Amino acid sequence: MDIKAIIQKLYDTNDASREELLYLLDNIDDDSKKFLIDKAYKTRYKYFKNTVFIRGLIEISSYCKKDCLYCGLRRSNKNAERYRLDTEDIIECAKRGDKLGYKTIVLQGGEDAFYTDEKMIEIIKVIKKELPTSALTLSIGERSYDSYKKLYEAGADRFLLRHESATKSLYESIHNNESFEERRRCLRDLKEIGFQAGAGFMVGLPNQTNEDLVNDLRFVKELEPAMCGIGPFIPHKYTPLRDCSAGTTEKTVILLAITRLLLPKVLLPATTALASIDSNGRNEGLRAGANVIMPNLSPMSVRKKYSLYNNKAFILDEDAEYRNSIEEKLKEAGFELVVSRGDNPDFV
Ligand code: SAM
Ligand code: SF4
Repeated sequence: MDIKAIIQKLYDTNDASREELLYLLDNIDDDSKKFLIDKAYKTRYKYFKNTVFIRGLIEISSYCKKDCLYCGLRRSNKNAERYRLDTEDIIECAKRGDKLGYKTIVLQGGEDAFYTDEKMIEIIKVIKKELPTSALTLSIGERSYDSYKKLYEAGADRFLLRHESATKSLYESIHNNESFEERRRCLRDLKEIGFQAGAGFMVGLPNQTNEDLVNDLRFVKELEPAMCGIGPFIPHKYTPLRDCSAGTTEKTVILLAITRLLLPKVLLPATTALASIDSNGRNEGLRAGANVIMPNLSPMSVRKKYSLYNNKAFILDEDAEYRNSIEEKLKEAGFELVVSRGDNPDFV
C-alpha cells in the first residue's frame, strides 16, 4: 500500500477501509504526517475557513456515581473534593460568558443524582430564557431515552458523550462493570432525538493499539456524530492508572487529522487535555483540522476540584483576560475567533 495514496483517498472521498487506516497508523512518518495535516487543514478550510468556535465550559458537579479507572472524579477517589453548582451559580457563569462572547454554553459534570430531569429542565429553561440566542450543550453522562428527550424538549441543543473506546475489551477494562453497549445506545438515542451529538475517545489509553484506534475511527465514521472530542489520556494521581504513561501530542494530532478527513463538517475541539500535555498542543490541534476550543467558565473557587487528570492547563486564568489573550494567540497562529453559536453545518 502507498501511504500518500491512502491520505489522498481520504481527502477525495472522506473514507478509507479498516486495512488502509491501520496501514496509515502503523507506517506514518514525518513526511506523510505533513501531507496528512495539510489535507486535513484544507478540508477544515473548505467548510470553516480559518475560524475557531469558542464554548464556555461550566463544570457543574464533581460528584460521580461511576468509577471509570482513568478519571479523578471516580467515586472511589476518596481524596477528590466534591462540589455541585446550583441553578443560580450556573446562570451567573453563563451570563458572564455571554458578555465575553461565548455563544455556546457547555454544562459538564460527573453523573450526579442531584441533577434529576426536573432539575436539569429548570436549569435549561432558565438559560434559554436568559440567553435565547445561545446554544446549550450538555455533557452529563448516560441517561434513559426518555430523560434525553425531556432535556432536548426543554431546549438543550447538543450533547457530548464520548464513546471512550470502540473496542469492547478495552472499554470494559477501564470501566468497572459498565456496559459497552449501553454507552453506544445512548449515542444512537441522542442522535435520533435530534441533538447535535458528540462522540469521542482518548488516545494513549493503557494497552491501546492501533487496531483499537481504527475501531474508534470506523465507529465515528459510521455514527457520523456532529461533534467528536479527541484528547490524550492523562494519568491522575489518585486513580488506578496513576503510573501509566500519558498519550502523546503527535498521536493525538494524527487522530484529529484523520477524523477531520473522515467527517469533514464535524465540530472538532482542540481539547484542554491536549493543551495540558503540550504548551503548543492547542495550535497543533487547530492546524490539524480542529475548529473548536472550550475555555473554562466555572467559578474560580471550584476549578481545582474538577480534577480529571494531573496538571490541567489554564485552570486559574481569569476569564476576561483569558478571553482576550486567546483571541490574540489565535490571531498570531493564523486563526480567527468567531462570536457565534457555531453549529455543525448540517444543523444550521
Ligand atoms: N461524566 C460525563 C462523561 O463521562 O461522559 C462527562 C464528564 S467526563 C469528566 C468528560 C470526559 O473527560 C470523558 O468523556 C473522558 O474522555 C475525559 N477524561 C476523564 N478522565 C480523563 C483522563 N484521565 N485523561 C483524559 N481525559 C479524561
Ligand atoms: Fe464520572 Fe465521567 Fe469521570 Fe467517568 S469520566 S468517572 S462518568 S466524570
